[in-house]
Amino acid sequence: MLRIGNINLPPGHSDANLRDAIAQALGIGTSELRSVRIRRQSIDARRKQAIVLTYTVDVATANDEAILSRTDHPVPVSWTPDEQYRFVATAPATGSDPARPIIVGMGPCGLFAGLMLARMGFRPLLLERGKKARERAKDVYAFWKAGTLNERSNVAFGEGGAGTFSDGKLTTRIKDRNHRCRWVLEELAHAGAPEEILYQANPHIGTDILIRVVEALRKTILSLGGEVRFESRVEDILIEGDAVRAVVLEGGERIDASQVMLAVGHSARDTFSMLHRRCVTMEAKAFSIGARIEHPQSWIDRAQFGSYAGHPDLGAAEYKLSHRAADGRGVYTFCMCPGGEVMAASSEAGGVVTNGMSRHARVAENANAAVLVSVTPDDLDGTGPLAGVEFQRQWEQRAFEIGGRNYRAPVQRVGDFLEGKATHTLGAVAPTYRPGVTYTDLALCLPPYAIAAMREGVQVFDRKIKGFAHPDAVLTGVETRSSSPVRILRGPSFESVNVAGLYPAGEGAGYAGGIMSAAVDGVKVAEAIAQRQTDTGPAQNRAAL
Ligand SMILES: Cc1cc2nc3c(=O)[nH]c(=O)nc-3n(C[C@H](O)[C@H](O)[C@H](O)COP(=O)(O)OP(=O)(O)OC[C@H]3O[C@@H](n4cnc5c(N)ncnc54)[C@H](O)[C@@H]3O)c2cc1C
Repeated sequence: MLRIGNINLPPGHSDANLRDAIAQALGIGTSELRSVRIRRQSIDARRKQAIVLTYTVDVATANDEAILSRTDHPVPVSWTPDEQYRFVATAPATGSDPARPIIVGMGPCGLFAGLMLARMGFRPLLLERGKKARERAKDVYAFWKAGTLNERSNVAFGEGGAGTFSDGKLTTRIKDRNHRCRWVLEELAHAGAPEEILYQANPHIGTDILIRVVEALRKTILSLGGEVRFESRVEDILIEGDAVRAVVLEGGERIDASQVMLAVGHSARDTFSMLHRRCVTMEAKAFSIGARIEHPQSWIDRAQFGSYAGHPDLGAAEYKLSHRAADGRGVYTFCMCPGGEVMAASSEAGGVVTNGMSRHARVAENANAAVLVSVTPDDLDGTGPLAGVEFQRQWEQRAFEIGGRNYRAPVQRVGDFLEGKATHTLGAVAPTYRPGVTYTDLALCLPPYAIAAMREGVQVFDRKIKGFAHPDAVLTGVETRSSSPVRILRGPSFESVNVAGLYPAGEGAGYAGGIMSAAVDGVKVAEAIAQRQTDTGPAQNRAAL
């Protein structure tokens, strides 16, 4: 098969147009194309008067070798590379039953680690503090409707982790030499995600589909011999002689294990405290704070796509903006959700946390994105590894107070925000956050340096996206959980630097920042666990040597 890049076509083109363009680029007739598979599709909107869809395709022709031997193609042509993921280990044959690896947490990191181990023939035990996705959804919707937070089952905790109620963006900057990203995308598609995630440059799933997808992933793990336990919070770990020996669940049940993967996400504050008490080496790391901005999606479409705005082939427009503020801090947009909603993402009583999500169709009225400012360990009051957690909590509680102590979120018109005055009435843009908002001045619930950098950033971003600083755009705060404030240190074998057999992984441990990177980190750690088991025999035996 041949891989052909840079095939450009206008929005609205047909499949036949694509075949014609490929044949023309190769200097052959369309009848000589035996098969065509899209490998990548992106939107090139740099010239708004002439937006194009750019394709990379894999084709089989009547004579691939003859085509490849020519050098006069107007587009890049090569053999289709081998992009197949290859499993690094297989569980030993039955009879030498290896110790069952434990995975704590069923977000993208834990789920894909569990799936990888199960596919390799190991039978992981997955422990998740929250509920199954569908039961969890009831708790989440009740919170959004009535402000009744369930601290055990919410946007952060439960099957699928923090990514379940999200836009489900799958973009990543990972260099994918081992094709782990491809494997994750293929597993997601196999579990019911739309096929287009396999080729779109900025793929996304949408919260309405994600719930089904995480359920299907769980069922696959079970069908391969894995085990899943919900409402099973790991409350403690037992360490002997610098090696992990067991986990203890809330309620006291002890489960022995010599390989424990911690994929607990960035909101497992109680778990971080427990690990700190157990002297697992960790440190405070940089993270960010800010608020969600909302504009009508039609403004963003117009700014990005000009007269093509609203074209069905382009979908809802996205943006990603960044700026270095005068004081040197980074200010940037994060987790942009086209045609979506700002959502209440609290997991701890007495704190307001914002985030964003979209359904697959991305057809809701508003676009939203976090406008975030970087926070470094030097900004924190305390010096311990958990100082960032305390900092996040402090501003979340401040927002809760300002919002009215009922999970309504503080909201401010951008015009008022830029002028430094409280909002008393809204304009053309209605905030989408539920259970509701309280008009205020966001300077009351964010640090002064964050407010200053956000003001600067919003105005700079307006030069790139016309209308970004429109006075009627709205900011809803506070957004504190874009990444983990701690890093649990691990060495080259992916184990904790001071506890053998403990594998910190994913976003909470500081090794990922998004669904794809968390999933891929889970895959890498699963590979390390599997290799350890196959290199040395059952890990329990190894520890006893
Ligand atoms: C609302 C929202 C929208 C988002 N949108 C996107 C997006 O569109 N694209 C993107 O790339 N990223 C998005 N993110 C970020 C993304 O969801 C996270 O980066 C990702 O989920 C991190 O994966 P993880 O598996 O490391 O941790 P998590 O997903 O946080 O999963 C951790 C899991 O561990 C469980 N757990 C914690 N402690 C314990 C314990 N002690 N015992 C047992 N279980 C425990 C938790 O209940 C949770 O299920 C979004 C996040 C949120 C909150």
